[in-house]
Amino acid sequence: MMKQLCLIMFGPPGSGKGTQATLLRQALGIAHISTGDMLRERVHHGDALDEIAKLMRAGELVPDETVNLMVADRIEQPDCAVGFILDGYPRTVNQAALVADMLAVKQIDPVVIHLKVDYNVIVARLADRRQCPTCGASYSLSSNPPRVPGVCDLDGSRLTVREDDREEVVLERLHAYDHKTRPVLEYLKNAGYTVWDVTGDTGPPQVITERILKLIEAKYGKPAPVIVSRSLTQELAAAEEK
Ligand code: AMP
Repeated sequence: MMKQLCLIMFGPPGSGKGTQATLLRQALGIAHISTGDMLRERVHHGDALDEIAKLMRAGELVPDETVNLMVADRIEQPDCAVGFILDGYPRTVNQAALVADMLAVKQIDPVVIHLKVDYNVIVARLADRRQCPTCGASYSLSSNPPRVPGVCDLDGSRLTVREDDREEVVLERLHAYDHKTRPVLEYLKNAGYTVWDVTGDTGPPQVITERILKLIEAKYGKPAPVIVSRSLTQELAAAEEK
């Protein structure tokens, strides 16, 4: 039997981890675990300590213990049985050590997708990003605008700018990435995981997803654990026609 498929989306804020994870989830039928989304949801529902909301607003990382517990619990949920995508986690070496332990217990050999994006593209992308406060859907004013300006396509909520996408907070997030998260890549390589460098700033998101799907297929062979949904196949075809 095929083991669980685990993809680790790695890259700086604004590298497209969330967008790629969403498209890959649709294509592969596996769970998408975004620690940022989970934390925002907790803050939104008043389930997080004030301290956590404060750290997030400032663009700083929340304590490892909080995130580790959240992920350890999440990957045991039934929708993770086929596989899961970790988006925005691990972000510190301590978190990476826990991931390595959890995956070893489950005998999962993960794939790390390292999205490489130019610094200027990141800053421009984050300034351009709008988010639905209700369902979390993410839009880009230039490359993926909502059908009606300022309104979520999915539930009609008024779109907002994420508090931590303001310029001064973005700088803090990039600082946290450079100092705490970048070393995680080395850790994951040393753990013997496959790491794929994927250029994240050339071409539309669907084309980048297609590149990743081809790599997955090459690693896992055919029939891969890949069940490309009809809608994604159509999206990819449309993107290619452009
Ligand atoms: P993201 O949506 O992934 O950019 O995450 C938004 C914010 O949530 C980050 O700036 C951190 O404050 C917090 N966060 C998300 N994931 C983690 C993590 N793995 N470790 C620590 N803090 C995190």
